[in-house]
Parts: sequence; structure tokens; C-alpha cells
Amino acid sequence: MKAKDRRLAELRRSIPEVSPEEALAMQKAGAALVDVRDTDEIAQGSPTGAHRLGRSYLELRVEEAVPDMDQPIVVMCAGGVRSLFAADALKNMGYTKVHSIAGGFSRWKNEGRPFEVPKMLDAEARERYARHILMPDVGEAGQLKLLNSKVLLIGAGGLGSPSSYYLAAAGVGTIGMVDHDVVDQSNLQRQILHREDTVGLPKVESARRALLALNSKLNFVAHETHLDSSNVEEIFSGYDVIVDGTDNLATRYLINDACVKMGLPNVHAAVYRFEGQLTVFWPEYGPQHGGCYRCMFPNPPPPEMAPSCAEAGVLGVMPGTLGLLQAVEVLKILLDIGEPLVGRMLHYDALGARFTELKIRTNPNCPYCREGAEFPGYEDYAQVCASTKS
Ligand SMILES: [Zn+2]
Repeated sequence: MKAKDRRLAELRRSIPEVSPEEALAMQKAGAALVDVRDTDEIAQGSPTGAHRLGRSYLELRVEEAVPDMDQPIVVMCAGGVRSLFAADALKNMGYTKVHSIAGGFSRWKNEGRPFEVPKMLDAEARERYARHILMPDVGEAGQLKLLNSKVLLIGAGGLGSPSSYYLAAAGVGTIGMVDHDVVDQSNLQRQILHREDTVGLPKVESARRALLALNSKLNFVAHETHLDSSNVEEIFSGYDVIVDGTDNLATRYLINDACVKMGLPNVHAAVYRFEGQLTVFWPEYGPQHGGCYRCMFPNPPPPEMAPSCAEAGVLGVMPGTLGLLQAVEVLKILLDIGEPLVGRMLHYDALGARFTELKIRTNPNCPYCREGAEFPGYEDYAQVCASTKS
């Protein structure tokens, strides 16, 4: 008798085997059905509601899917052999009620048990996003979510450059950018999407070239226009997240008001010299939402009080740091993982090398985001530079 056969015989004695019919009944009663076949096998079909964990990373991924060691598990492979070894591994991890499906998926399918052909990444995408897929928090399902996501960046400047670049790299399927400016020599000190050979081109065109060179599958939507109250809702509609990388206050208020009205998360950042700040305004998030931009600053200062754009200097890497933190918040929101930076303001002091977190207080009387507020309408403020410049 070969070692393999001896081992199989042992496993058959220690792991209870169930028929597909019994497995389905167990699944309906709350058991986890774990499919341990390879990705290319699963692409042909997998039981409805199964956890598709594969065999290679089973031990690393199973606790995310089945945190309760006493929850019954039925393990499936193609023919019922690999599932015995996998079930044994789960037993060794401490799972107490592990079963193997005799006959595997081929018998499951032949008997007409329910299965589906899951949406899967193609081989190229699987290779490209391999480092994402390895993480249980993202996985193939998360990567598919990113590919189906739509993110709109306001401003193709200092903040929009790094955030869009990394979001395109991460596989966000659709990236829109709003900007009506052209690339200037003085932008190159920090706006890394643009290059010497795109000086003089519209920023959205320069951005399009850079982002598509990085990821040719990206759906890039250029909005070469000035954002105002007449077009903001039309431009925002269809996007999942808005990234505020603007350098002027009138636009910042407009973004805030539209996001509050449309229920969109507004990932906000601003930089000034050696300092930066970051938060997520998202009243829809829940009772502890931390309010909106107008809770902090109900109205813009009069134009004569605002510093001129030319006065506000910035260290070139600052928008890089803050823009990347914006990209992180966007990915967390899209993947629904971690704690979004809602109700908290992160302040970065580069000279002191310090991050500080401040709590944002919701204004319970905020005319824009208070519970049950009737939208007060948009204000087209005179264009003034923000005290912080991207
Ligand atoms: Zn508010």
C-alpha cells in the first residue's frame, strides 16, 4: 500500500464524509461550505454561498471567513480527495466539526445542487493585483469591487496627482478628474502627474496620459471645466467617492454642499507650507459622523481676508503625503474596511514630524448636514484662494 493510500484511509476514518445532499442541508442549517479548489476550477462554477478560499492559503484565510471554531464546516474539492486533506488541516487548526463532501463538486453538479459561476478576475488582473488578492481584507472580491468603483478627484494638482496615481495603480476602475487649468512650469515641483513635455497642455489631458501609461485598463473621465453650482450635481452623479484636492475656497464649499446633498463621502485634504490636514466628511456615515465642512467653517471669509494664491507657499512633497493619505481613505471606503477618518481631523506637522488627531464637532444646527435639513441651495462664492493651497 502506498503512503498516499494509507494516509487517505486514515483520513476517511477520522473525517466524516457527507453527500452533497447532506452538505446542502447542513449549509442551510448554518454550516460553512468551504470550496478549496483552485481559481481556474472555481471559475467553472462553485456552490452558491460557498467560501472560495482555495487550498494554498486555506489556513491563512479561513479564520476571516469562519471565526467560530465550533461552527460546522463542510469542505469541498473536485472529487472528494483534496477536501479530506484540507478538512484534516482545519481540524488541526482547532475546528471541531469538519466534514468532507464525498464526490466533490462533480457529484454536487451532477446531482443538480445549486451553484453559480462567480465573477472572477482574468489571469492578467490576478497577476497584476496579486499583492491585493493575498490580503483577506481585499481578496479577489475586493479587487473586483475596486475595478467596479468610480472615484472623482477635484483638481489635477498637488493632491490629485499622487492620489489618482495610486488609485489607478490599485485598480480603481473609473477615475474622473475635474480641472480647467493648463500645466505650468511651477506645477512640476509637486504635481507629479505632469511632466516637462506636458507643460502647456490641459491638466486633465496631461493626467490622462500619465494614468493610462500606468494602467491602460483604466476608464479615465476628463471633466475639463470649472465646477460651479450649475454643473456640480451632473458631474458628481455616478461616482462613489469625491476627493477634494482643490486649492480654492469657493470650490471647497461647493464640493461640501453637493456631497452632503448627494450623500457622497468627501475625502478632504489641504496643505500649507509644512503642514497638512486630512479628514473625511460623510454625514451619511452615521450618528457619530462628525459633520461637514460647514460645521467647522459655516461661511467663507470675505475675499479681502483670504491670502492670495501666490503668497501661499508649500513644500513640494507635502501634497504627496496628504494626497496618498486621501488615496488610503478612498480605498478603505470602497472596500468597506477599517475606520474611515470620519469625525476626526488628522494634522501633519512636517517640521516637527508629528501627526495629531483632532476631534471634529458636528454643529447640531448646521443648515446643511443636520438631521432632516432641507437643502438650503448652492452659493456661488467669489473665487478666492484657500488659506491652504494644494
Ligand atoms: Zn454640517
